[in-house]
Amino acid sequence: AKYTKKQIIELVEEEDVEFIRLQFTDMFGMFKNVAITSSQLKKALDNQCMFDGSSIDGFVRIEESDMYLYPDLDTLEIFPWRPQQGKVARLICDIYRPDGTPFEGDPRFILKRALKEAASMGYTFNAGPECEFFLYHSDDDGLPTTLSHEKAGYFDMAPLDLGENARRDMVLTLEEMGFEVEASHHEVAPAQHEIDFRYDEALSTADNIMTFKLAVKTIAKRHGLHATFMPKPKYGINGSGMHINMSLSKDGKNVFADPVDALGLSEEAYYFIGGIIRHMKGMTAITNPLVNSYKRLVPGFEAPVYIAWSATNRSPLIRIPAARGEETRIELRSPDPTANPYLALAVCLAAGLDGIKNKIKPPRSVDKNIFHMSVDEKEEEGIDSLPSNLREAVRELEKDEFIRGVLGEHLAKRYIQAKKAEWQDYTTQVTDWEVDHYLSKF
Ligand code: GLN
Ligand code: MG
Ligand code: MG
Ligand code: MG
Repeated sequence: AKYTKKQIIELVEEEDVEFIRLQFTDMFGMFKNVAITSSQLKKALDNQCMFDGSSIDGFVRIEESDMYLYPDLDTLEIFPWRPQQGKVARLICDIYRPDGTPFEGDPRFILKRALKEAASMGYTFNAGPECEFFLYHSDDDGLPTTLSHEKAGYFDMAPLDLGENARRDMVLTLEEMGFEVEASHHEVAPAQHEIDFRYDEALSTADNIMTFKLAVKTIAKRHGLHATFMPKPKYGINGSGMHINMSLSKDGKNVFADPVDALGLSEEAYYFIGGIIRHMKGMTAITNPLVNSYKRLVPGFEAPVYIAWSATNRSPLIRIPAARGEETRIELRSPDPTANPYLALAVCLAAGLDGIKNKIKPPRSVDKNIFHMSVDEKEEEGIDSLPSNLREAVRELEKDEFIRGVLGEHLAKRYIQAKKAEWQDYTTQVTDWEVDHYLSKF
C-alpha cells in the first residue's frame, strides 16, 4: 500500500486537512460521498463509518440497509480546488455489509473480483482511457446549456480554441493530484476536448476515471463553463467517446507483444480480441449505458457501429495502435464516458480472459473502411453490428449469461430492470423531432 493508517493520520494533521470525503460509485457510475471531519478519521480508517445503503440506487432494500465504508488507503488525495487552509481530502471506499463481507453490488468489488481471476492466471490488467467531453456555457442561473461560441476543430489552437485556458487548468489540477497527463487537445467537434492520462492497473484506472470527471467538471465551473460527458449532446456532429486501451502483463512483461508475429501480436492478444468480439453485444449495455449513448454509435462520426477489428484502420470497433513492444495494446472504441468504469473494465477484462481460456479465435481483421462496404459485402465477411439502441443492448445483456455472471446476479438484475425502465420512459415521450415532422403535415 502507498500509505499506512498512521501515515494518513499524520499527513492529514500536517497538511491541515479539515474534511475527508469518503467516496464510492453507485451502479450507474455516479460518484457519491459523505464528508467527515478529521476528528472522525481514525474511526473511518478502522472501517467504522456507516451509511444507509437503501438510499443509493440499486443497492439494497430498507430492511438490510446498513452498509460500511472501508477506505482504500492508496486512494488518499487532497482536492487542489478546495481552500488551502482547512483542506479537503478524499478516500475511495469499498462497501461492506455489517457482517464484514464485501457487498456484492459494489462496482469496485465487481472489478476486483474480475482482477482476481486475472491474477489467478498470472495476469495484471492495464487500462488507459481517452476521455472526451464538451465545454458549454452556463446560463444566468448557472444551469448548463448546449451553447458555445467556439468553432475550433481537431488540434486547433487559441484564439480559435476558447477552452484552452480551462483545459490547461484541468491538466495542471490533475497533475497536482498525481495524474500523469500524456496529451490534451481540442477534439473534432466545436467545444469538444480530450485529455489523456497514463494507463495504470485497472482498479487505479477506474478510480482515476471517476476522479478525472470530477476534476474536469469542477475546473470547468470555475471558468464559467459546464463540462459534459454526455455521449451525443448535439445531432449532426461528433459525440464523446471513452476509448479504452488494454493490455495484460505477466511478471512485468506485456504478454500482448510478439515480435515474430506478422502484426506483432501474441496468441493471447488474438484470443483476447476474440473474447471481446464474442461478448461485445452483451457488454454494450455496460459500456454504453444511456439512451443517448446509441445516438453516438451511428455512421459518419468516427464512432464504431460494426463489430470488427483492424491493425491498420481506424473505423472498426477494435483497433491495434501502432505502438509495439511494452506499449502493445488493443483499443476498444465503443465505450463512452458515461459508462461505470469499474463495470466497463470488469466486463472487458472478463470477456478477454474468456477468449484466452477458451482459445476463441477472432474473425479475420477487416482492413478496409466498413462504412464503405455494401450490405452484401458485410454479410460475406460476417460483420455484425453493435446493438442499435438501449433496448436491444439490454436484451443482449439478458442473453449473455457469461457477462451477467461477471456482474453478479445482484447487480445484473437491478441494472437490467433500471435500464428497461429508462428505455420505457424514453420511448413513450413525444419528441421535438416528431412535432417538427408531423404536426403541420398531418
Ligand atoms: N469522438 C469520436 C468518438 O465518438 C472519436 C474521435 C477520435 O478520437 N478520433 O469515439
Ligand atoms: Mg485519442
Ligand atoms: Mg479522441
Ligand atoms: Mg483513440
